[in-house]
Amino acid sequence: MTIMMGISLTGRRVLMVGGGAVTARRLPRFLDEGAEVVVVAPALAAATRELILRHDLEWIPREARADDVQGAWMVHTATGDRRADDEVAGECERRRVLCVNASDGAHGTARMTAQTRSGDVVVGAMSHDGVDPGRAAAVRDAVGAQLRDGRLPLRARRAGGPGRVDLVGGGPGPADLLTVRGRRLLAEADVVVADRLGPTDVLRELEGGVEVIDVGKRPGRHTMPQEQINALLVALAREGKRVVRLKGGDAFVYGRGGEEVAACLAAGIPVEVVPGLTSAVSVPQAAGIPVTHRGTSAGLHVVNGQAEVSPSTLAALADETVTTVVLMGVAALPRLVAAAREAGAPDERPVAIVERGHTPEQRTTRTTLGRVLADAAAAGVRNPAVIVVGEVARVGLLLAEPALTGDATS
Ligand code: SAH
Repeated sequence: MTIMMGISLTGRRVLMVGGGAVTARRLPRFLDEGAEVVVVAPALAAATRELILRHDLEWIPREARADDVQGAWMVHTATGDRRADDEVAGECERRRVLCVNASDGAHGTARMTAQTRSGDVVVGAMSHDGVDPGRAAAVRDAVGAQLRDGRLPLRARRAGGPGRVDLVGGGPGPADLLTVRGRRLLAEADVVVADRLGPTDVLRELEGGVEVIDVGKRPGRHTMPQEQINALLVALAREGKRVVRLKGGDAFVYGRGGEEVAACLAAGIPVEVVPGLTSAVSVPQAAGIPVTHRGTSAGLHVVNGQAEVSPSTLAALADETVTTVVLMGVAALPRLVAAAREAGAPDERPVAIVERGHTPEQRTTRTTLGRVLADAAAAGVRNPAVIVVGEVARVGLLLAEPALTGDATS
């Protein structure tokens, strides 16, 4: 029979009897907890010796004696000799000190769990009566994987912790193109402040009590101004909430993530950024276009189509060894094309427009600088779309077009 408890050993003496591999394996767990570990053993395995040296631990180089147990809160015995371990355990019993007996099949008054942690949640697995470390580890690993994926209800129920903001880059749309860390932070969040683009499906998987605030632009509604979003993030965190600011792609690529980080820092709110797959790279990829390709394109120039066409963009458009990727560029196409031609880019320069990349409605229009305006108009190209100008957008660069999967190429 067993009761599983959380025991704090910080600053408390833990005696480890035996210097072998089991001691070496378990020692870091006690050290992580901040215990004062003392090792008693006539000889040390290399791994144990190294830990003792690295952490400047006390080593008593002899067999254990009954008195060694005195003053310890916890004893761990792993001498490799069942009789010796049982003797230590017996001494602990007499002196009412909890003891882990690592001998095969033995049961001390305490046992280690197979343990995993995610943020502030700790989960341990063990057997109720018997001893089966392999099974406990397997259960621990399975639960650990779910914790890491954010598949378990990790949200804190008790308020009072400090608030914070996590800026999570959500990638181009599909929930499984969101990072594992981002997914876990979403599972821990009290409030999610979301945009229109990015992994909106994942929001439906969140627990009922999670508040979702949509600040993205939708028909008939306007985007919340950036200053208001900044103020909202700060206000929510000040209420002690765990806030996830979920964005499409990467928060630091035309995501105004930098402004949100600065606003949080200025207000003294802890803030972290989780990178996401930017559409500048992942949307061309969805259409089979590598943004750089040995022998074809040696560089990548990413621009916001709504901004003025800068000299560096003109140079990139004119340079056949550079790929130019334009975000938010559909409305600006005429201006871009005129600028490219003026800069000397040839009419035959390949152009691809990838709409709604990584979604079931993905569509790619392959054309050239000379024809792009007519082709885009004929196809009715709309945002969100990524425009790729450069030799990497040439039809058949990697594979014959029909072999590219998941893309309704027009
Ligand atoms: N932070 C984002 C970009 C935000 S700007 C990122 O790193 O991806 C918004 C622009 O991103 C859109 O106008 C469009 O050009 C592009 N975009 C984002 N998701 C897209 C998608 N799934 N398909 C095509 N373009 C996309």
